[in-house]
Amino acid sequence: MAVIKGRIFKIQRYSIHDGPGIRTTIFLQGCPLQCRWCHNPESQPYEAATARTITVDALIREIEQDTIFFDHSQGGVTFSGGEPLAQPEFLTALLKECREREIHTAVDTSGFAPAHVMEQAATLCDLVLFDLKPMDHSEHRQYTGVSLQPVLDNLALLQTLDVDLRLRLPLIPDITATENNLDRLMETLSANNRFRTLDLLPFHRTGAAKYKRLGIPDPMAGTPEPKPELVAKVKEILITNGFIVSEGG
Ligand code: SF4
Repeated sequence: MAVIKGRIFKIQRYSIHDGPGIRTTIFLQGCPLQCRWCHNPESQPYEAATARTITVDALIREIEQDTIFFDHSQGGVTFSGGEPLAQPEFLTALLKECREREIHTAVDTSGFAPAHVMEQAATLCDLVLFDLKPMDHSEHRQYTGVSLQPVLDNLALLQTLDVDLRLRLPLIPDITATENNLDRLMETLSANNRFRTLDLLPFHRTGAAKYKRLGIPDPMAGTPEPKPELVAKVKEILITNGFIVSEGG
């Protein structure tokens, strides 16, 4: 059988923000989006020199070193990115291997992927972390570089499957944290939506240093972190609309 390999750019151990318990987060290389606020711009090109190629077997061996922490904290492994669904064969193989070992898995996705890829990953993992961003079609394209429609279609598809899902909203002043965007979000999520848990991810300036280091212009230079009052206001709107909200994932 062919050896399945993929590209990753980081393994982060002892993470507590990417799903339940203590987690090992694997950042897969490559992303079809170019979100203006991306903290990992180096993760976007699949072939970037900062990433490494690794086989499924080798990566599973690395993950297995952490099972003691997973067992004690009811944690597991989270596949993030980049966009993990952009390497479907690699991701699918990893999810299958983890399931065989009874390791809890989460997939952190932008939702931008072919429907069959989304469906396969969702049914093989234990938890989907599904990001929503600008809810207006032209603003979504303007700020992420891709169409919103596949994301909405995939969210609708996931409603029909037996999957556990947490919504996530990066809270970006003047982009996602506007009344208009929250209205649209509530509109989208009021129709046939059974997912009621939402993590707010307030924008922070830590990405700025990375842009400087990489020598690329920071598209968010000048954008402030959201004030606590803004975060509280957004939280209140979401709670009033029936969501269970947490901050930071
Ligand atoms: S989806 Fe995530 S990794 Fe991809 S560009 Fe957006 S923020 Fe960056």
